[in-house]
This record gives sequence, structure tokens and C-alpha cells, in this order.
Amino acid sequence: MNITLIGTGAIYSKYNNACTLINDDILIDVPNGILKTLLRNNHIPEKIDKILITHLHGDHTADIPFLLMYLYKNKKVERNTYIIGPKGIENKVKQLCQIYHYHFLEKIDSYIQYRELKPNEILENTYKIQSFPVLHGKEKPAYGYIIDDKLGLTGDCAFCEGVQTIVKNSEITIADCSRIQGDESHMGIDNLSFLAKEYHKTLIATHMKDETREELENLKIANILVKEDGYKFEL
Ligand SMILES: [Zn+2]
Ligand SMILES: [Zn+2]
Repeated sequence: MNITLIGTGAIYSKYNNACTLINDDILIDVPNGILKTLLRNNHIPEKIDKILITHLHGDHTADIPFLLMYLYKNKKVERNTYIIGPKGIENKVKQLCQIYHYHFLEKIDSYIQYRELKPNEILENTYKIQSFPVLHGKEKPAYGYIIDDKLGLTGDCAFCEGVQTIVKNSEITIADCSRIQGDESHMGIDNLSFLAKEYHKTLIATHMKDETREELENLKIANILVKEDGYKFEL
């Protein structure tokens, strides 16, 4: 599995919003501006045929219409594009296209397969995707995922049971570390330090505010990696 961190920042950050690409064909979350980032870094968006969404906040969904439009213009959407996420994702995509005043969606509707996952569901297709409900303030549902029994992704989340299950059952977890200190919406350095120690696992921090990134870089905590946008690794 080839993994690229397309974005590792929070909304108010000079880095891209959190976004991960696996093997060029599955994109996890579609934040604002991410189509341009993919193109600038010589990724081939045409290869993406699975879009996996953690929750419906704008910094995880804003570019879906632009990505779909790009796929439509390049005729690749005829291959079927799967949009997988929590309950409400289909409606969200349709609403976004309407709000953005892009009316191409009806032309490609039959090529888009929506798949709304239930909590703790296992979807087995090209990848094995397991969904775990996580705590993210008032936003429900919010999911973290384990892909192919080895890569964990917490999505946006506070410290909760779901996140512990993800870290425990993955080899590496890309984990929300927005804050220096965790709260009811996002984890902090304190939470990631606990998880890394408790489960003896490697965590890669994402969704970081710039001040959190700086603090993490200074602290150099064992098993917590702080990487730039564009970092690639294999699992
Ligand atoms: Zn969020
Ligand atoms: Zn977010």
C-alpha cells in the first residue's frame, strides 16, 4: 500500500487540510483546493475511483464537486466512482453541486455509486474498509477507518473509544492532532502521546494547527511522526 499525505493541516493553517491518497485510487477526504494540489504534484486524479469521507464538515468535502467535474470532463467517471462515507454523504454531494451552481451531476449520476456506511461496518471491495464511530463535538456521524487491517485513519476526532480501537488494530494510524491539548472535538499532543505509549504504535499527526506542528517538532515524541504535505510511505 502506497500512502501519500496530501494535506496535514487544520483549516487555519498554511498547510493543506487533512487528506490522504492511497495507491492513487482512493482519496480520503476532499478538502478545499485539493484537486489543484493533486495536479500540481503530478498525481493523476483520473485514477481515483473511490472517495472515502470521514464526516461532512466543509474542510473534508469542499472540493468534491470540482473533483467530480474533473473526472466528468476527462470522461473517467464512466468507470464508476464510489463515494463512501457516513449517512448523509449522498445528499451532501448533491447539495454542494447545487450550491456551487454546477449542474453536471445529473449527467453522471448513473456512474456515481454512493455507499453510506453504518457504524462498525466492514466494506470489502478493492480494499477492506472498516468504519468506527468517533467523537467529534456535535458532528454526527463522524467516522475513523481501518483500511486493509493495517492503516488507521482517525478522521477528525476527540479522544474516544473509537480512536483507541483504531490505533490498537492498525500498524500505523494517521491521527487528528489539531490541538496542543485535546478537547471534545479534536485530539491534542497529550492524547497522541498517550495512544503511542499505551498501544506501542506509530502515529502520524495530521489536521495540525501550525502552532501544534511547531510544538510537536520541538518535543520529538517517540512514535509520533510530524510530516510535511506530500510525504509518502509504504505499508
Ligand atoms: Zn470536522
Ligand atoms: Zn476538519
